[in-house]
Amino acid sequence: MRSQVDLLGLSWKVEITSDANSHPHQSDNYQQVFDLGPARIPLHIRAAMAARLSSAELLRYSRHLIIPDIGLEGQLRLKNASVLLIGAGALGSPSALYLAAAGVGRLGLVDADVVDASNLQRQILHGESWIGKPKLDSAAARLREVNPHIAVELHAVRFTQENAMEIAASYDIIVDGSDNFPTRFLTNDTAFLQKKPLIYGAIHRFEGQVGVFAPHLGGPCYRCLLPNMPPAGSVPSCQEAGVLGVLPGIMGSLQAMETLKLILGIGQVPLGKLTVYDALRSSFRSLALRRDPACRLCGDHADIFSVSNPETCASNCCETYIDTMESITTSELREILAGEFQGLLIDVREPDEYAMAHIEGSQLIPLKTLPDQLAKLPMDRELIVHCKAGGRSTKAVQFLLNNGFSRVKNVTGGMDAWLAKE
Ligand SMILES: [Zn+2]
Repeated sequence: MRSQVDLLGLSWKVEITSDANSHPHQSDNYQQVFDLGPARIPLHIRAAMAARLSSAELLRYSRHLIIPDIGLEGQLRLKNASVLLIGAGALGSPSALYLAAAGVGRLGLVDADVVDASNLQRQILHGESWIGKPKLDSAAARLREVNPHIAVELHAVRFTQENAMEIAASYDIIVDGSDNFPTRFLTNDTAFLQKKPLIYGAIHRFEGQVGVFAPHLGGPCYRCLLPNMPPAGSVPSCQEAGVLGVLPGIMGSLQAMETLKLILGIGQVPLGKLTVYDALRSSFRSLALRRDPACRLCGDHADIFSVSNPETCASNCCETYIDTMESITTSELREILAGEFQGLLIDVREPDEYAMAHIEGSQLIPLKTLPDQLAKLPMDRELIVHCKAGGRSTKAVQFLLNNGFSRVKNVTGGMDAWLAKE
């Protein structure tokens, strides 16, 4: 079920199911990602590789080495892996620190900014003495202090159409810590064209998202979810939106974790799965995202074959967040109502519209009266909301989510779609 969701003046093309476990791409398919897996390396070469961990490294990584799923082979995989981080800011800081500490052999960082005092509330790579100096110099000094056994490569430039393919070419995985749409689209396109896993992360005030995009293995790309670059000025800048300091630490660390899992070949690749963290509700949700066959980059009739600088969008817009409202179709609603539905079906249209036609069992709560009715709604039951065509119900669902209700679904197409299929 695909839905068009309006958020902050943008139309997000999102397809979400609440049951991420049913997603077909969640399988142990790491070997397709990395052909350098120890299982494929002949024994005599593996023995030679083992000699490449110094005694200092053996001591440093001892807490890894004693984990059966990692061991010496896993640590050598980390040492032989390379990761490119786009941005040495809020998300890039924790990612870089943990990847360096874990012993990822080659870390590349792309960033052209200088450290600003307002960065320090969340960008933990940098400190007071580096204000006014290049972020990459600060990052390199810190990362070399964390782990002198790895190579840190600096790309002190903006990631652009001209340099993206060349910079990314020699890395295995790309971690997206960017904070603006042009860079995010460019990073997505570069990763897709080079068939490299992209570890996506985004933050907004109190909520964060992490996912792995690798359409060559299955699942969607970023463009499947947001096909078009939003127009300049249509989204708030970071300065306008804000973010609570610890949040990028959590999401950037999750990005580092998915990166390590990919390199080590353990667990499951969360392809097409979005992990959403809500700090205020102390909750994690897992949402399944599907590939869009009409995607211009990874779809069936793709027409993007090279990277380009997305032309629109103010460079300072940072609302690169995927909306996560859950939607169902009217067919799915029929199935739910035919079963043992314990929740509440809410119709947010006006009384005269309700009088003309309504769904059996629905409760009328016109949108403008919803705030007054909030206290009467059950928080522990599922709420399904519909209107005439989906516009008002989208607002209602967003309002309910913002007020602490977590089990809320929107009915795509509303009463119009319901009646059309009767
Ligand atoms: Zn796509």
